[in-house]
Amino acid sequence: MTTSGPDRIIACPNCGHLAKHFTLLSGNTCSRRVWTDGKQELLMLPSPPAVVQCPQCRKCYWLAEAEEMGEDSGQNNDGAVTNPPNWQNVPSVEEPVEEAFYRAIDSGCMGTNDEHETHARLLAWYKSNDAYREANPEIGSPGPPISEQRRSNMERLGLLLAAGAGDNDDVEWPALIRAELSRELGDFDAARVWLGKVTSVEHDEFRQKLTYLCDRRDVHLRFLSGKPTSTTSDAWCCCVLPAAMAIVVIGSIFLLLRWLVWQ
Ligand SMILES: [Zn+2]
Repeated sequence: MTTSGPDRIIACPNCGHLAKHFTLLSGNTCSRRVWTDGKQELLMLPSPPAVVQCPQCRKCYWLAEAEEMGEDSGQNNDGAVTNPPNWQNVPSVEEPVEEAFYRAIDSGCMGTNDEHETHARLLAWYKSNDAYREANPEIGSPGPPISEQRRSNMERLGLLLAAGAGDNDDVEWPALIRAELSRELGDFDAARVWLGKVTSVEHDEFRQKLTYLCDRRDVHLRFLSGKPTSTTSDAWCCCVLPAAMAIVVIGSIFLLLRWLVWQ
């Protein structure tokens, strides 16, 4: 079960324009989906975008670097509105489209150090793959078209990872991501070289999947693990069915106890 918390009001670090994003009080990780580009989705535990685009000045910024103005408390128990007057009709944050990511990176909005650039380029690559995540990746959806901007972003991301950039404690993760970047760009020999650097059992499934795709000369984004199911069916599997089973078990125990008492 996912339980929403109060919206959080933030201010754009460039122009001060207000926006809001959702928060969660609770959720679960049972419906986890992972893709061959490394992106994982927690359908029952969503999070706001890491990078957002201001609806006023249209510049992009890191959500974590925005000034927090407070939580949207709505109305108190007496029905009185407790928010400041300028919090009325505050728009929700927007996630940038792929091209906006590239513009923001090129203009320096995402920061100028390698860590910021690596993270921003990783998110831009995920964004360029997003349109193909629901297009039945198990049976061969068409891969994203390799635009010059997409290719340039992927190549630069690969160079940054090769140079050791990226905030990651897992030393084999950059090699996996480099292998996937090479595979999606059609350079299967380079992908195999990077996969050869991955030896841990932890990444065995990932390495085997990418090796299999390289052998098939497949450049498409693919599903790695989890079930490519809808939020509705995940909710049934994670929440409704366990709750129904619990009710049946408790009811059976209750009937058994009543029967024992009558004996
Ligand atoms: Zn702004």
